[in-house]
Formats: sequence, C-alpha cells, structure tokens
Amino acid sequence: MSKLTTYTCDRCKKTSEKPNFLHSITVMVGSRYGNNNGPTVEWCRACVVEAGITSWTPSPPLKKEDLPEALSVEDLIREIIREEMESNGGNQ
Ligand SMILES: [Zn+2]
Repeated sequence: MSKLTTYTCDRCKKTSEKPNFLHSITVMVGSRYGNNNGPTVEWCRACVVEAGITSWTPSPPLKKEDLPEALSVEDLIREIIREEMESNGGNQ
C-alpha cells in the first residue's frame, strides 16, 4: 500500500505532491526588548515571489569589504550608553 501526500499552499490553495512545493514563512517582529514570532504559514514559490518576500534570483555572495565593520564589545557598550543618555534627554 502506498500513501500519497498532497501539499496545499496556505495562500492560493494550489496543491502539489512534491514536498519542496511549500516554503515556510514566519514573520518575526523585533525590538530592543525582544522578538515576537508570528504564526508560520506555508506558501508555494509563486506566492512567495508575488508577495515580494524574495525574487528568488540568487544574489552574488557578499564580499568581506561589503560587510559592515564588526563593533567591539566596548563600542557596543558605548553605543548603548549613548542611546540611553539621548533617550533620557541627557539629564543624567
Ligand atoms: Zn500559493
């Protein structure tokens, strides 16, 4: 006996028997106080592209000189203190 699994897009309701038909989409909303993950849905490739989440064109890998310079821990602490002082109006 064989089983046939049908995969259904949560957005357009198209179906396929191919397991790679669907892609998981989760929206994460983040702030300095933490992250909230929304529900995960499964969309077909056409819906993912149509929603503008990705054009699905492979981009060239980033070169090291294109990446932002990594901050040291000391720089990060200075940055946090500066932001805190600015948000308190500098009345410290
Ligand atoms: Zn779809």
